[in-house]
Amino acid sequence: MDDVVVVGGGIIGAATAYFLSKEGRKVRVIERDPAYKKASFPLSLGGFRRQFFQKENINLGKFALEFISNISNTLKTKTNPNPTASMVPNGYLLLFGPEHAKEQYEALKNHKACDAGTKNIPASKLKEIFSWINPEGLETATYTDSKIEGWIDPHMFHNALKNKAIELGATFEKGDVKKISDINAKTIVSAAGCWTNELLDDVPVAPQKHTVFRVKCPKHYPEMPLTGDLPSGVYWRPEGKEYLAGSPNSKFDCPDLEPEWNDFENLVWPALANRVPAFEQLKLTGGWAGYYDCNTLDNNAIVGKHPKYENVFLATGFTGRGLMQSPGIGRGLTELITTGKYQTIDLSCFHIDRIFAKQKRTEPYVL
Ligand SMILES: Cc1cc2nc3c(=O)[nH]c(=O)nc-3n(C[C@H](O)[C@H](O)[C@H](O)COP(=O)(O)OP(=O)(O)OC[C@H]3O[C@@H](n4cnc5c(N)ncnc54)[C@H](O)[C@@H]3O)c2cc1C
Repeated sequence: MDDVVVVGGGIIGAATAYFLSKEGRKVRVIERDPAYKKASFPLSLGGFRRQFFQKENINLGKFALEFISNISNTLKTKTNPNPTASMVPNGYLLLFGPEHAKEQYEALKNHKACDAGTKNIPASKLKEIFSWINPEGLETATYTDSKIEGWIDPHMFHNALKNKAIELGATFEKGDVKKISDINAKTIVSAAGCWTNELLDDVPVAPQKHTVFRVKCPKHYPEMPLTGDLPSGVYWRPEGKEYLAGSPNSKFDCPDLEPEWNDFENLVWPALANRVPAFEQLKLTGGWAGYYDCNTLDNNAIVGKHPKYENVFLATGFTGRGLMQSPGIGRGLTELITTGKYQTIDLSCFHIDRIFAKQKRTEPYVL
């Protein structure tokens, strides 16, 4: 019998394998596509932030920074002596219209309670800090400017976690797990991302296609934060000398990952040009689509022990934030598995029981 089997070697699987291996567990990770062609993490925008509504999500975002900042020490291996996630700490800027402002003022109380370091600014003052912005129609904004939020390279981060887990004794092998009951292990962790429902059919997580466009603009703002324009749902950030911009449109039941090219003309470009007048001169240079692991009940993580099994734990449903939450989730699951309870961030609010009871715990800040 195996000690631990992790199904899915994506970012959650790799982080969990790392933390469990560090605690001396013998971990076997089974991944059906080691090239990760359709996995969510390589197709993500790499963003990490603490600007959420719920305290647990704020604290997971804070731990992401702490963990990523230390990987040159913690994830160093013989084969990867200088691990990096290529962090760009430009911060996040979230823009709210009157329809979201009240909720945002409530969220700020949680930011404060968690010592998140978030700043609040009325829309009328935005241009003093962000000269490129058109604040029309906005009421308020939150941002960080102290290098505590930003984005990373998801491949490099995954590679560093996987490498370290292997050095600590974990194995990663190719395999397609058809049924949880096919596995014979003391502990099973389902980290199958948006495909979790194929293994655990009472978990309401589904692949939700999201499109990201790559654009070029004569005017370059390398210091621009990852900006989310809540009224339009469009978000963007610099990427080298270009920019990446996410469409607010998402779709279920899409077996292919063809980008929704029409969204650019119809939704994304108009919103970008409205908020950043220099973006009127954009040129589309590329794009891709990937699946969010969407929790269709409440857009929030599902983490913990599955009550219908003796030995099955799961982590999924991150709905656009699984990359940044992976260190906190890997650590939290490891605490739960090895000690029976969470020791650092209490993640019990994400337990699947709330799903069975249809008690939503909606996180509003989905980008
Ligand atoms: C366009 C886009 C932008 C995003 N932007 C961000 C962002 O800025 N910040 C952020 O934090 N998150 C972002 N995300 C979300 C993030 O990518 C996901 O939440 C995260 O990758 C989920 O991690 P995971 O390991 O659960 O899933 P995945 O990364 O999809 O990994 C799951 C793995 O499990 C394997 N698998 C599934 N079923 C089986 C099986 N039965 N047997 C064996 N292997 C199996 C799959 O092949 C896959 O490799 C974004 C996602 C997209 C698509």
